[in-house]
Amino acid sequence: MTTVSAYAATSADGPLTRTTVTRRDVGPHDVAFDIHFAGICHSDIHTVRGEWGGIDYPLVPGHEIAGIVTEVGSAVTKFTVGDRVGVGCFVDSCRECDACRDGEEQYCTGGGMVGTYNGVGRDGQRTQGGYSGAIVVDENYVLNIPDAIPLDKAAPLLCAGITTYSPLHHWNAGPGTKVAVIGLGGLGHLAVKLAAAMGAEVTVLSQSLKKMEDGLRLGATEYRATSDRDTFKELRGRFDLILNTVSANLNLEDYLKLLKIDGTLVELGMPEHPMSVPAGALISGRRSIAGSMIGGIAETQEMLDFCAEHDVTPEIEIIEPDYINEAYERVMASDVRYRFVIDTASLR
Ligand code: NAP
Ligand code: ZN
Ligand code: ZN
Repeated sequence: MTTVSAYAATSADGPLTRTTVTRRDVGPHDVAFDIHFAGICHSDIHTVRGEWGGIDYPLVPGHEIAGIVTEVGSAVTKFTVGDRVGVGCFVDSCRECDACRDGEEQYCTGGGMVGTYNGVGRDGQRTQGGYSGAIVVDENYVLNIPDAIPLDKAAPLLCAGITTYSPLHHWNAGPGTKVAVIGLGGLGHLAVKLAAAMGAEVTVLSQSLKKMEDGLRLGATEYRATSDRDTFKELRGRFDLILNTVSANLNLEDYLKLLKIDGTLVELGMPEHPMSVPAGALISGRRSIAGSMIGGIAETQEMLDFCAEHDVTPEIEIIEPDYINEAYERVMASDVRYRFVIDTASLR
């Protein structure tokens, strides 16, 4: 085992503080890598604050991880020392259920995916995430980062990127489709870039018009404030697909009415409290409400390759680890443009 520096939460309401965690010895199928950058996802904050249920502390968050391979196990075939690699939201799954066999490990029915943090690995150890200096992961759960994508900008693609790419792909966003993205944060800004790169016509639905210039530069053709009731009158029946990336509860009825007949609203945000939907808002246009969770390993690699080819990368603010707590406050205040990425050099 090796010991590495990390930032951990020790309670639901206290600050994250510097500590150490251990990483297992490199097994035959393992890849060890130095973490260079780790993104801050709103899910890290929901988890740490206990909004998704009780967790065991100390907990090292971080599931948008990019770095460089330092050691590979004797049976590893996909990676060598020096490779640029990434790890997203999970580090293992049962590998035998239909979902795993279909490359949709995130929906593993054989016990569920093993989260990159707050999970338990095959070795029986609790997993600890990417706000740290190094990690050891089975090669089947490691991604290859294309040369065209800088490591710092690759990190957010491993969660925010795949979480928005997967539903856009699944619901056929492309030329001739109208897509709306609710919330211009970490997920939202990548959803705009990806949907535009796929050829869809994109509208941002944000709380205010403060970030309008950015939204249009990222590829949206329209940008509307949801604080203005006229938005909901004027955009009625407009969209084929709406991605909801908001981390808080919304009145979904308002948004469902913006869908065309047969349109789908996909829930990506996972707020703490349930949301309700009146049946009429679904029935009246044969509308659907759906959910989507990250993406499988093969699809994540496909997304990274797509981003390299189409020059899609996130807009990031690089921070030192001692700024994590302030960054959390800013994410919760929707004051992020558009992803905080921790430079983990001082943890290596
Ligand atoms: P984020 O950077 O904080 O972005 C969320 C955006 O939602 C904000 O920038 C803001 O956009 C809008 N928003 C925030 N509070 C709001 C409120 N009270 N009312 C209306 N709009 C509000 O968060 P993120 O990292 O993109 O994550 C978004 C959500 O997705 C979180 O719940 C996270 O846990 C979840 N998530 C899900 C998956 C999945 O697999 N499904 C993966 C990753 C994350 P505006 O300022 O433009 O309004
Ligand atoms: Zn995430
Ligand atoms: Zn499985």
